[in-house]
Amino acid sequence: VIEMNGVNKWFGDFHVLKDINLSVTKGERIVICGPSGSGKSTLIRCINHLEQHQEGIINVNGTLLNESSKNITQIRREVGMVFQQFNLFPHMTILDNLCFAPVWARNMPRAEAEEIALRYLDRVGISEQKDKYPGQLSGGQQQRVAIARSLCMSPSIMLFDEPTSALDPEMIKEVLDVMIELAGTGMTMLCVTHEMSFARSVADRVIFMDEGEIVEENTPDAFFDNPRVDRTQQFLSQIL
Ligand code: ATP
Ligand code: MG
Repeated sequence: VIEMNGVNKWFGDFHVLKDINLSVTKGERIVICGPSGSGKSTLIRCINHLEQHQEGIINVNGTLLNESSKNITQIRREVGMVFQQFNLFPHMTILDNLCFAPVWARNMPRAEAEEIALRYLDRVGISEQKDKYPGQLSGGQQQRVAIARSLCMSPSIMLFDEPTSALDPEMIKEVLDVMIELAGTGMTMLCVTHEMSFARSVADRVIFMDEGEIVEENTPDAFFDNPRVDRTQQFLSQIL
């Protein structure tokens, strides 16, 4: 459902993505890890055109990612994204946060949007918080709201960029549990994360990036137990 072929990107003179080739099949769960500055965020942000690549081909669910705004809109319909910072609208209630895009971007009747929103809030375990404002929730709860909000747009692919790294340790598990549950529904997921227990238990494939390149990719067991490349071994010895 995602094809990246020979993708290159520069920020000015800085070559941030070097010849990225990545093919993701439907329902696959991929974890991307690597040192700070290696290009992980840039890579996944290219998939929904939050960043623009300069060379190579990106195809999402059969739609070519090019300059056509029709194609970009089509791809963004398919792809949900959750960030490290939750990016909720602070002046709106939780329920309004979830209904906003379906009502205003998809012209969904409010009653229908609410019904869907409540279903997802229930799934992430916070339906009783629906009338509160984001500032009244814990970080873990806010991140679960952000995931529910993304799901309200019925994406077929979910991108996560370090969704737990802004959270206190005791809140990480509640967010990972939601992601594990989502993985169980067959959602295609690309997760930038250093939560290696999540990678081991959920990922079909772990990708290690360094200096803009995909250096190594493998099944989690092979990746953690037998890293082939020195840079991977070094990285793992620092984080495990
Ligand atoms: P981290 O683990 O710290 O989040 P990352 O692997 O996600 O790192 P990116 O955010 O993709 O790394 O950044 C890769 C490199 O590109 C970094 O050196 C960063 O400074 C640079 N970079 C990122 N965004 C921009 C930008 N908008 N303009 C210029 N350089 C940028
Ligand atoms: Mg990043």
